Amino acid sequence: MKITGACHCGAITYEADVDPERVAICHCTDCQALSGSAFRVVVPARPGGFKLLSGKPKVYLKAAQSGRQRTQAFCTECGSSIYSADATNTQQFSIRVGTVRERAELLPKKQIWRRSALGWVDHIEPIPQVQTQDF
Ligand SMILES: [Zn+2]
Ligand SMILES: [Zn+2]
Repeated sequence: MKITGACHCGAITYEADVDPERVAICHCTDCQALSGSAFRVVVPARPGGFKLLSGKPKVYLKAAQSGRQRTQAFCTECGSSIYSADATNTQQFSIRVGTVRERAELLPKKQIWRRSALGWVDHIEPIPQVQTQDF
């Protein structure tokens, strides 16, 4: 599936070819800290299927539990997370779904690192709902 994406300020734009069957929710503690949220939603680009169209993300190098280094790319202006990639294999990009314009069509198919999932994430439906914002 062809997608396009951008960071919040619009400095970084990209296009990619992704596999919508591999959209995943990651509950790992690194994703919680790096996203500033309860979990992160990602989709892998097909090999060679990621192309930056504008901007130059800053890269933060993080050691995974496996010991492999992963680059975490984000916008220096607005801080949006754009993708992560294997530091030694720049053909493999994992795209942050929140920056994808077509994100409503990318339904998660799998949850990983469930052992560190926050206890409330499966129970948000009954929480009082407001259509915009009221605080
Ligand atoms: Zn930006
Ligand atoms: Zn994670």
